Amino acid sequence: MGLDERALFNDRPEMRIGRYQCPRCKRNGEYSIRWVRRSKKDRLPPGADEQDRAKFAKLRDYLLRLDEDVTCKACGKKFEIPSQHSLMFVDQLAGLPNDEDLEREITQASGEPDPPPEAKPALPARFTRKSSGWK
Ligand SMILES: [Zn+2]
Repeated sequence: MGLDERALFNDRPEMRIGRYQCPRCKRNGEYSIRWVRRSKKDRLPPGADEQDRAKFAKLRDYLLRLDEDVTCKACGKKFEIPSQHSLMFVDQLAGLPNDEDLEREITQASGEPDPPPEAKPALPARFTRKSSGWK
């Protein structure tokens, strides 16, 4: 008999911000969604057999979404979160900002003037050098 997945992972609840569009009013909203982060344990529990060992070797940390639906903040309709967003492998997330950080960056970026279409040539060093080196 194989071990249950729960014996192989440590579960930790985690809130993540998700951005979803309401199917009724088409408005986008940010929602706090409950997830559980499953981190592979450091070692196999006692009683593991060969099959468990093989399975354990292939396991990856992942996030599992617990919330199935959200209630639209604009019109109050309850709608399902798209199911393709229900499981994420942590190694796929590595190096990516989470949704919250991403949104913040987008907001910040949109508040600034657009960069010029062509990069200006860098100023000669004499214009940018700090006064400490100035003689
Ligand atoms: Zn709505």
